[in-house]
Amino acid sequence: MALQAGGSIGENLRLVFERIRHATQQSGRSEGSVRLVAATKSVGLDQIREGITAGLMILGENRLQEALPKIEALRGEPIQWHFIGHLQRRKVRSVVGIFDLIQSVDSVELAEEIDRRAREAGLTQAVLLEVNLEGEATKAGFLPDELEGAMPSLGALPHVAVKGLMAIPPPTSDPEQARPYFRRLRELAWRLSRQQIGTVSLQELSMGMSNDYHVAVEEGATMVRVGTAIFGARRA
Ligand SMILES: *Cc1c(COP(=O)(O)O)cnc(C)c1O
Repeated sequence: MALQAGGSIGENLRLVFERIRHATQQSGRSEGSVRLVAATKSVGLDQIREGITAGLMILGENRLQEALPKIEALRGEPIQWHFIGHLQRRKVRSVVGIFDLIQSVDSVELAEEIDRRAREAGLTQAVLLEVNLEGEATKAGFLPDELEGAMPSLGALPHVAVKGLMAIPPPTSDPEQARPYFRRLRELAWRLSRQQIGTVSLQELSMGMSNDYHVAVEEGATMVRVGTAIFGARRA
């Protein structure tokens, strides 16, 4: 099914919520088990405010320089911020404690830096581990095999709370082609959970974007990250 993003932000959002609800029911999952993260890169404040009025509660940003002014401008709004882009180690200090969830932890070194900065700030930072399912050279993320070995080190960080996994499968035109990837991420989380490491919890699965979020929900996503289907096509 093609992207439906022709309406107002409010109309688009109603459609997205409706499709999430439908996919949740189809797969026998409980209502409210999936959270919508609006991907707001390159989306302006007015549009974001429109989205919040229409029911958005979680905003995902990729770039710190773009996110910080938005966070400042929207202070006081009842929203959560998630960091969903590639995070450089030298930027960790500005991210910790500002974002409710860092979805894109892609190395033990990055997790260690987050732990250090979170300790300095006197907090525990919630994170997801990004998985590079296909081992694509251009993409960040733990390789599935690598992750198993990394879990003990990740679980030993007292100021990092691992909540689950995130993945961005290779782009496809047919949403059904993404299904096997979503399934693999769910199975990986299940396998790793059996290691039962410290405070590590792998309840959250962040997967699915505008083109395929309904399939991701059917395969167990607890968070979908949707931009285009809400705000329309991004300017390049
Ligand atoms: C932009 C982005 C999305 C949303 O993509 P759309 O296809 O516009 O829905 C999701 N996740 C990440 C990490 C992104 O950068």
